[in-house]
Amino acid sequence: MKGEVLVNIKNYSVSYPDVEALNNVNVEIIKGQTYSILGPSGCGKTTFLHGIAGLLPGKCNISGDVITNKELVKSIVFQDYGLFPWKTVKENILLPIEIRNQVIYEYEEDYEKLVEKLKISEYSNSYPDNLSGGQKQRVAVARSWIMNPDLLLLDEPFSSLDAITRESLQDAVLNLYKQNPITIITVTHSIEEAVFMGENIIILNSKGEIKKNVKNKEFGDIKAREKEGFYEKCLELRRIMKEL
Ligand code: ADP
Ligand code: MG
Repeated sequence: MKGEVLVNIKNYSVSYPDVEALNNVNVEIIKGQTYSILGPSGCGKTTFLHGIAGLLPGKCNISGDVITNKELVKSIVFQDYGLFPWKTVKENILLPIEIRNQVIYEYEEDYEKLVEKLKISEYSNSYPDNLSGGQKQRVAVARSWIMNPDLLLLDEPFSSLDAITRESLQDAVLNLYKQNPITIITVTHSIEEAVFMGENIIILNSKGEIKKNVKNKEFGDIKAREKEGFYEKCLELRRIMKEL
Protein backbone atom coordinates (compact mmCIF):
# COMPACT_ATOMS: atom_id res chain seq x y z
CA MET A 1 0.00 0.00 0.00
CA LYS A 2 1.42 3.37 -0.99
CA GLY A 3 1.89 5.78 1.88
CA GLU A 4 1.89 2.93 4.39
CA VAL A 5 3.97 3.65 7.49
CA LEU A 6 6.58 0.92 7.68
CA VAL A 7 8.34 2.11 10.83
CA ASN A 8 6.93 4.59 13.30
CA ILE A 9 9.52 6.05 15.62
CA LYS A 10 7.95 7.87 18.56
CA ASN A 11 9.64 9.87 21.32
CA TYR A 12 12.62 7.58 20.91
CA SER A 13 15.64 8.13 23.15
CA VAL A 14 18.66 5.88 23.59
CA SER A 15 21.50 6.25 26.11
CA TYR A 16 24.64 4.23 26.62
CA PRO A 17 25.98 4.17 30.21
CA ASP A 18 28.13 7.28 29.59
CA VAL A 19 26.33 9.15 26.85
CA GLU A 20 22.92 10.02 25.51
CA ALA A 21 22.98 8.99 21.82
CA LEU A 22 19.43 9.75 20.61
CA ASN A 23 17.15 12.34 22.09
CA ASN A 24 13.38 12.25 21.58
CA VAL A 25 13.41 11.28 17.91
CA ASN A 26 10.09 11.28 16.06
CA VAL A 27 9.87 10.12 12.45
CA GLU A 28 7.72 7.97 10.20
CA ILE A 29 9.36 5.77 7.57
CA ILE A 30 7.00 5.37 4.62
CA LYS A 31 6.99 2.26 2.44
CA GLY A 32 8.86 2.63 -0.84
CA GLN A 33 10.58 5.89 0.10
CA THR A 34 14.27 6.43 0.70
CA TYR A 35 15.83 8.21 3.66
CA SER A 36 19.27 9.61 4.36
CA ILE A 37 20.32 10.07 7.96
CA LEU A 38 22.94 12.78 7.93
CA GLY A 39 25.02 14.14 10.77
CA PRO A 40 28.51 14.53 12.20
CA SER A 41 30.45 11.60 13.60
CA GLY A 42 29.12 10.46 16.97
CA CYS A 43 25.68 12.10 16.59
CA GLY A 44 23.79 8.81 16.90
CA LYS A 45 23.33 7.68 13.28
CA THR A 46 24.40 4.08 13.84
CA THR A 47 22.37 3.97 17.06
CA PHE A 48 19.33 5.12 15.06
CA LEU A 49 19.85 2.38 12.46
CA HIS A 50 20.57 -0.33 15.02
CA GLY A 51 17.49 0.75 16.97
CA ILE A 52 15.36 0.07 13.90
CA ALA A 53 17.19 -3.19 13.19
CA GLY A 54 16.83 -4.40 16.79
CA LEU A 55 20.61 -4.59 17.20
CA LEU A 56 21.21 -2.30 20.18
CA PRO A 57 23.27 -3.77 23.03
CA GLY A 58 21.52 -4.72 26.26
CA LYS A 59 23.34 -2.01 28.23
CA CYS A 60 21.36 0.70 26.41
CA ASN A 61 18.65 2.59 28.18
CA ILE A 62 15.79 2.99 25.71
CA SER A 63 12.60 5.00 25.99
CA GLY A 64 9.85 5.65 23.48
CA ASP A 65 8.96 3.30 20.65
CA VAL A 66 10.05 1.90 17.32
CA ILE A 67 6.85 0.40 15.95
CA THR A 68 7.25 -2.02 13.04
CA ASN A 69 5.34 -4.91 11.64
CA LYS A 70 6.96 -8.09 13.03
CA GLU A 71 6.85 -9.73 9.60
CA LEU A 72 9.01 -7.01 8.08
CA VAL A 73 12.07 -8.45 6.30
CA LYS A 74 15.03 -6.21 7.17
CA SER A 75 18.48 -6.28 5.72
CA ILE A 76 21.60 -4.35 6.68
CA VAL A 77 24.87 -3.47 4.94
CA PHE A 78 27.81 -2.50 7.14
CA GLN A 79 30.72 -0.25 6.29
CA ASP A 80 33.28 -3.06 6.36
CA TYR A 81 31.45 -5.44 3.97
CA GLY A 82 30.98 -8.23 6.54
CA LEU A 83 31.73 -10.98 4.01
CA PHE A 84 32.99 -14.42 5.00
CA PRO A 85 36.45 -14.94 3.49
CA TRP A 86 36.08 -18.73 3.32
CA LYS A 87 32.89 -18.53 1.26
CA THR A 88 32.78 -17.70 -2.45
CA VAL A 89 30.99 -14.62 -3.74
CA LYS A 90 27.97 -16.75 -4.63
CA GLU A 91 27.90 -18.46 -1.24
CA ASN A 92 28.18 -15.10 0.49
CA ILE A 93 25.30 -13.64 -1.50
CA LEU A 94 23.07 -16.67 -0.95
CA LEU A 95 23.85 -16.83 2.77
CA PRO A 96 20.55 -15.20 3.89
CA ILE A 97 18.69 -17.91 1.96
CA GLU A 98 20.80 -20.64 3.54
CA ILE A 99 20.30 -19.21 7.03
CA ARG A 100 16.53 -19.23 6.56
CA ASN A 101 16.72 -22.84 5.37
CA GLN A 102 15.14 -21.93 2.08
CA VAL A 103 15.76 -23.77 -1.15
CA ILE A 104 18.73 -22.12 -2.86
CA TYR A 105 17.67 -23.51 -6.23
CA GLU A 106 14.58 -21.29 -6.20
CA TYR A 107 16.78 -18.21 -5.98
CA GLU A 108 19.11 -19.07 -8.87
CA GLU A 109 17.31 -16.81 -11.31
CA ASP A 110 17.16 -13.87 -8.88
CA TYR A 111 20.84 -14.43 -8.16
CA GLU A 112 21.83 -14.31 -11.83
CA LYS A 113 19.83 -11.13 -12.45
CA LEU A 114 21.21 -9.44 -9.38
CA VAL A 115 24.88 -10.15 -10.03
CA GLU A 116 24.44 -9.04 -13.61
CA LYS A 117 22.90 -5.72 -12.55
CA LEU A 118 25.67 -5.25 -10.01
CA LYS A 119 28.33 -6.21 -12.56
CA ILE A 120 29.85 -9.00 -10.48
CA SER A 121 28.70 -12.07 -12.49
CA GLU A 122 32.23 -13.07 -13.37
CA TYR A 123 33.26 -13.29 -9.71
CA SER A 124 30.69 -15.89 -8.57
CA ASN A 125 33.38 -18.44 -7.74
CA SER A 126 35.96 -15.98 -6.45
CA TYR A 127 36.72 -15.41 -2.79
CA PRO A 128 36.28 -11.95 -1.21
CA ASP A 129 40.03 -11.54 -0.58
CA ASN A 130 40.58 -11.49 -4.34
CA LEU A 131 38.17 -8.60 -4.91
CA SER A 132 38.62 -4.83 -4.70
CA GLY A 133 36.83 -2.85 -1.99
CA GLY A 134 34.21 -1.68 -4.48
CA GLN A 135 33.55 -5.24 -5.69
CA LYS A 136 33.29 -6.51 -2.12
CA GLN A 137 30.72 -3.87 -1.34
CA ARG A 138 28.77 -4.85 -4.48
CA VAL A 139 28.69 -8.39 -3.09
CA ALA A 140 27.46 -7.05 0.25
CA VAL A 141 24.71 -5.10 -1.53
CA ALA A 142 23.70 -8.20 -3.52
CA ARG A 143 23.51 -10.21 -0.30
CA SER A 144 21.30 -7.57 1.29
CA TRP A 145 19.02 -7.50 -1.76
CA ILE A 146 18.61 -11.22 -2.48
CA MET A 147 15.81 -11.68 0.09
CA ASN A 148 13.87 -8.81 -1.46
CA PRO A 149 13.70 -7.08 1.94
CA ASP A 150 10.98 -4.62 2.89
CA LEU A 151 13.55 -2.42 4.54
CA LEU A 152 17.20 -2.01 3.61
CA LEU A 153 19.50 -0.36 6.14
CA LEU A 154 22.84 1.00 4.95
CA ASP A 155 25.37 2.19 7.55
CA GLU A 156 27.95 4.42 5.83
CA PRO A 157 28.12 1.66 3.24
CA PHE A 158 30.56 3.27 0.84
CA SER A 159 32.64 5.53 3.06
CA SER A 160 35.80 3.45 2.84
CA LEU A 161 35.81 3.62 -0.98
CA ASP A 162 37.44 6.21 -3.23
CA ALA A 163 35.16 8.91 -4.66
CA ILE A 164 34.56 7.41 -8.11
CA THR A 165 34.01 3.86 -6.83
CA ARG A 166 31.71 5.27 -4.22
CA GLU A 167 29.58 7.06 -6.80
CA SER A 168 29.37 3.94 -8.95
CA LEU A 169 28.05 2.03 -5.92
CA GLN A 170 25.49 4.76 -5.22
CA ASP A 171 24.41 4.49 -8.88
CA ALA A 172 24.14 0.71 -8.57
CA VAL A 173 21.84 0.97 -5.52
CA LEU A 174 19.72 3.66 -7.19
CA ASN A 175 19.33 1.47 -10.29
CA LEU A 176 18.25 -1.49 -8.17
CA TYR A 177 15.81 0.78 -6.35
CA LYS A 178 14.32 2.08 -9.58
CA GLN A 179 13.51 -1.46 -10.66
CA ASN A 180 12.29 -2.53 -7.25
CA PRO A 181 11.54 0.42 -4.94
CA ILE A 182 12.06 -1.07 -1.50
CA THR A 183 12.35 1.25 1.50
CA ILE A 184 15.96 2.28 2.08
CA ILE A 185 17.57 4.12 4.98
CA THR A 186 21.14 5.27 4.33
CA VAL A 187 23.29 6.58 7.15
CA THR A 188 26.05 8.88 5.99
CA HIS A 189 28.18 11.84 6.99
CA SER A 190 28.57 12.85 3.34
CA ILE A 191 26.22 15.60 2.17
CA GLU A 192 26.50 14.54 -1.50
CA GLU A 193 25.72 10.93 -0.64
CA ALA A 194 22.72 12.03 1.43
CA VAL A 195 21.33 14.07 -1.48
CA PHE A 196 21.92 11.30 -4.00
CA MET A 197 20.49 8.49 -1.85
CA GLY A 198 17.57 10.06 0.02
CA GLU A 199 14.21 11.36 -1.02
CA ASN A 200 13.98 12.47 2.60
CA ILE A 201 17.02 13.77 4.44
CA ILE A 202 16.96 13.63 8.21
CA ILE A 203 19.64 15.75 9.85
CA LEU A 204 20.76 14.85 13.36
CA ASN A 205 22.68 17.28 15.57
CA SER A 206 25.42 16.37 18.02
CA LYS A 207 22.84 15.96 20.80
CA GLY A 208 21.14 13.16 18.85
CA GLU A 209 18.08 15.28 18.06
CA ILE A 210 16.45 15.62 14.66
CA LYS A 211 17.43 19.09 13.56
CA LYS A 212 15.55 18.97 10.28
CA ASN A 213 13.69 16.56 7.99
CA VAL A 214 14.09 17.86 4.45
CA LYS A 215 12.26 16.70 1.30
CA ASN A 216 14.66 16.22 -1.59
CA LYS A 217 13.32 16.59 -5.12
CA GLU A 218 16.74 15.84 -6.61
CA PHE A 219 16.49 12.21 -5.54
CA GLY A 220 15.95 9.53 -8.18
CA ASP A 221 17.89 11.07 -11.05
CA ILE A 222 20.89 8.98 -11.99
CA LYS A 223 22.39 12.09 -13.61
CA ALA A 224 21.69 14.30 -10.57
CA ARG A 225 25.39 14.99 -9.97
CA GLU A 226 25.58 16.78 -13.31
CA LYS A 227 22.80 19.18 -12.35
CA GLU A 228 22.67 22.50 -10.61
CA GLY A 229 19.71 21.61 -8.40
CA PHE A 230 21.80 18.85 -6.83
CA TYR A 231 24.51 21.27 -5.74
CA GLU A 232 21.96 23.81 -4.53
CA LYS A 233 20.49 21.10 -2.30
CA CYS A 234 23.98 20.23 -1.03
CA LEU A 235 24.56 23.89 -0.23
CA GLU A 236 21.25 24.14 1.63
CA LEU A 237 22.23 21.14 3.76
CA ARG A 238 25.74 22.46 4.31
CA ARG A 239 24.22 25.66 5.74
CA ILE A 240 21.88 23.72 8.03
CA MET A 241 24.79 21.58 9.25
CA LYS A 242 26.92 24.63 9.98
CA GLU A 243 24.24 25.86 12.37
CA LEU A 244 24.24 22.58 14.32
P1 ADP B 1 27.48 7.83 14.68
O1 ADP B 1 27.10 6.57 13.98
O2 ADP B 1 26.68 9.03 14.25
O3 ADP B 1 28.95 8.12 14.58
P2 ADP B 1 26.87 6.36 17.12
O4 ADP B 1 25.43 6.04 17.08
O5 ADP B 1 27.82 5.28 16.78
O6 ADP B 1 27.15 7.67 16.22
O7 ADP B 1 27.26 6.88 18.55
C1 ADP B 1 26.54 7.87 19.26
C2 ADP B 1 27.18 8.08 20.63
O8 ADP B 1 27.04 6.90 21.39
C3 ADP B 1 28.68 8.38 20.58
O9 ADP B 1 28.99 9.28 21.58
C4 ADP B 1 29.32 7.04 20.84
O10 ADP B 1 30.58 7.18 21.44
C5 ADP B 1 28.32 6.37 21.76
N1 ADP B 1 28.29 4.91 21.57
C6 ADP B 1 28.02 4.27 20.42
N2 ADP B 1 28.06 2.93 20.57
C7 ADP B 1 28.38 2.73 21.87
C8 ADP B 1 28.56 1.56 22.66
N3 ADP B 1 28.41 0.34 22.16
N4 ADP B 1 28.90 1.75 23.97
C9 ADP B 1 29.01 2.97 24.51
N5 ADP B 1 28.84 4.11 23.81
C10 ADP B 1 28.53 4.00 22.52
MG1 MG C 1 28.20 5.25 12.78
